[in-house]
Amino acid sequence: MYTELSNEISHWCREAVSQETAELLDSGECSPLALYQEICQKGWMNYANIFEDKQNFSRLAEVCKVANAYSGVLGNMICVNAACAMILGAFGNAEAKQFAQGILEGKNMAAFSLTEPQAGTDVNNIQASATLDGDDWVIHGEKYLATGAMLADAILVVVKTNPDVATKNGTSMLLVPANSKGMEITPIPKMSANGYASCHIRFTGCRVSSDRIIGTVNGAWAAMSMAGGVERVLVAACCVGLCQRIGEYLYEYTNDRLVDGKPLYELSNIRHQIVDIAIKVRAADALVGQAISALASGTNATNAVCAAKVFAAQMQQEVSMTAMNVMGGRAYLKAYPVERWLREGLLSLWAGGTNELQKNLMSRKPFDR
Ligand SMILES: Cc1cc2nc3c(=O)[nH]c(=O)nc-3n(C[C@H](O)[C@H](O)[C@H](O)COP(=O)(O)OP(=O)(O)OC[C@H]3O[C@@H](n4cnc5c(N)ncnc54)[C@H](O)[C@@H]3O)c2cc1C
Repeated sequence: MYTELSNEISHWCREAVSQETAELLDSGECSPLALYQEICQKGWMNYANIFEDKQNFSRLAEVCKVANAYSGVLGNMICVNAACAMILGAFGNAEAKQFAQGILEGKNMAAFSLTEPQAGTDVNNIQASATLDGDDWVIHGEKYLATGAMLADAILVVVKTNPDVATKNGTSMLLVPANSKGMEITPIPKMSANGYASCHIRFTGCRVSSDRIIGTVNGAWAAMSMAGGVERVLVAACCVGLCQRIGEYLYEYTNDRLVDGKPLYELSNIRHQIVDIAIKVRAADALVGQAISALASGTNATNAVCAAKVFAAQMQQEVSMTAMNVMGGRAYLKAYPVERWLREGLLSLWAGGTNELQKNLMSRKPFDR
């Protein structure tokens, strides 16, 4: 996990993302835009261009690991924008591809909006719709938890375009400009990462020109499947990065904290819990590597991707609780980063779809490799 690239990113994060900054990003008192643009200027978002070089996916995962270890907002922002850029690069027309390039350069921001108030895991239940009127698609309905929508220049919105067939065959993806009339975006307060708000979006006759379709009419599923795979692996990578940082922090903390005049780390029960973190991080990192290889090879990557996401998200919850236990009461205090890490890490339970969803997908052929 310690490549030259990750050392370079760690160096930048140590300078640019202090604990104080991470807290302000978390509470929403500070915008992450300037930091994201710096990440782009460093060229790290260019690794989302996996079509140019397959090795880029591993590099992008490295960026996610380190950035997320310093701030969940930054990790989240990289995942969302990288997935959007990949969708636009793979399925968009020339204009969309240009917009995608702007995302990687930090000139544009995007968000992805699939979930609705009445459709989460049950994605087949989406109701937001678009109908063609002359040269425009006209959108009606509601979207929920669209992360980054307030900051986005355009939002990838999944809508029903044929209500008479199954969702899988009757949905399309539209790139809706942020200033579109008939689109109202409202941030939803959440337990962490408020600097990168998840939003409610209401569409009331919002018109976008027909060339704003991404992929084919009624063909959103292909783009959604690709984005789902990518997002799950990046979420798993984020968990690896944050857990590594938590483990390293605990190692340092327990060596400094004296109990009865001896470092806490000398107690075997404490030491073993920290070693368990190191073992889990190695295992999760290996699964992330396997998932990236499977995606790059073009074979069916479902099991590799879902396994990495489930294992890493479960690890995240276990490691966060271990940290709370090992540090004693101090872990509960705002003066230490552990309580923020616990809150930030919980996102992995839902991001890229719940673990139950991943297990449903894997349960079709669990032992296929
Ligand atoms: C902070 C945050 C950011 C998000 N960002 C985005 C975003 O940018 N864009 C976007 O489109 N969405 C986003 N989401 C939505 C996210 O993808 C959904 O929360 C997730 O898919 C789960 O849907 P749900 O919340 O409606 O839960 P539900 O579907 O209501 O699920 C509730 C529980 O039931 C279980 N369950 C449901 N169905 C099944 C089943 N068939 N089998 C087994 N168990 C099941 C679930 O696993 C879960 O434990 C975000 C969510 C959060 C919390």
